[in-house]
Amino acid sequence: MSVSGSQGGERLDAFMGRANAAYYARLDPFADFVTAPEISQIFGEVLGAWCAVVMRGLPVAPGSSVRLVEAGPGRGTLMADMLRVLARLAPDCLTGLSVHLIETSTRLRKAQGEALAQCGVSVCWHDVLSDVPPGPMVLVANEFLDALPIRQFVRTETGWQERFVQNGQWSLLECADVPPEVTGRGEVAGDVVEISPASAGFVRDVAERLRREPGVALFIDYGTATSCVGESLQALRQGRPVSALVEAGTADVTAHVDFASMARAAQEAGAVCYGPDGQGDLLRALGAVQRAEALCRSAPEQAGALRSGLDRLIGPDRMGRLFKALAIASPEVATVPGFSEKTAGEQQ
Ligand code: SAH
Repeated sequence: MSVSGSQGGERLDAFMGRANAAYYARLDPFADFVTAPEISQIFGEVLGAWCAVVMRGLPVAPGSSVRLVEAGPGRGTLMADMLRVLARLAPDCLTGLSVHLIETSTRLRKAQGEALAQCGVSVCWHDVLSDVPPGPMVLVANEFLDALPIRQFVRTETGWQERFVQNGQWSLLECADVPPEVTGRGEVAGDVVEISPASAGFVRDVAERLRREPGVALFIDYGTATSCVGESLQALRQGRPVSALVEAGTADVTAHVDFASMARAAQEAGAVCYGPDGQGDLLRALGAVQRAEALCRSAPEQAGALRSGLDRLIGPDRMGRLFKALAIASPEVATVPGFSEKTAGEQQ
């Protein structure tokens, strides 16, 4: 069965990959959605402090060339906030540090270059993780995995069908080789199961690198802690939901991240996982509330905005619970700040 150009249309993951590449290349995604680093500087600041603790705990000689990597850095706000904190609180961590941004959109690369123009650290861009030079690595990725393509399978009375996109409509094709993680999930006719081989592949590449070289990766995104049944594909245009099948490239198309399957991919590749924990729990554990109060004391006129930004990030009914954080570490890394326990799994 071909992925695109077949009679049944274009397979959903091929459509979504094409749609998002066109969307991020042409449009300003921040007209359509707001992400945590854009909501409050507190997000990037506490993650900057997290980076400092992680870097100091890496089993590497002081001054080693550590790669600080971000996947899908958007406007560059998170990286700028993290580097500002590192420069202020942990300047020792900047020695030997280089910043590597994995970003395919030329337009967003330009915005990131502007945001990081004064950061005082070498910054380079890559299309894929494998282009980041070897060495110890700390990687962060906020709302990156949700933008990677998914496949959708629909359970019928007689078996499984896969969703394709044809002229802005769904088409269903019989599927002979249904992946095992799909067949184990849906049972009732009408059940929809989503998988994201692209996200699992990215996480696996990160984990394989962390098995070979010391480091930690932190993925934050909206999604589920377990692999469940149901569809989450969504599209936003100018902040409003639209059909995900609209003309490719005119809306941001995303899906919930299945953190259980991300953790499985990382563990199978030989890395150790922590979480997923709620974003609210992680940010609290990293001192977001205290940081907000300190900012309120030094800028009382902004206290209202600071507190409401914090509430949006950590409130359980806001982003605090739906958004989750999964850390992936080299086996020789003893702990990951902000997380209490290693994730259970066959490899540990
Ligand atoms: N992390 C940012 C932006 C999230 S939007 C924030 O929190 O504000 C998703 C980001 O991932 C954008 O920068 C987009 O261009 C990038 N992106 C999407 N698909 C990608 C891919 N396949 N490879 C690299 N970057 C990608």
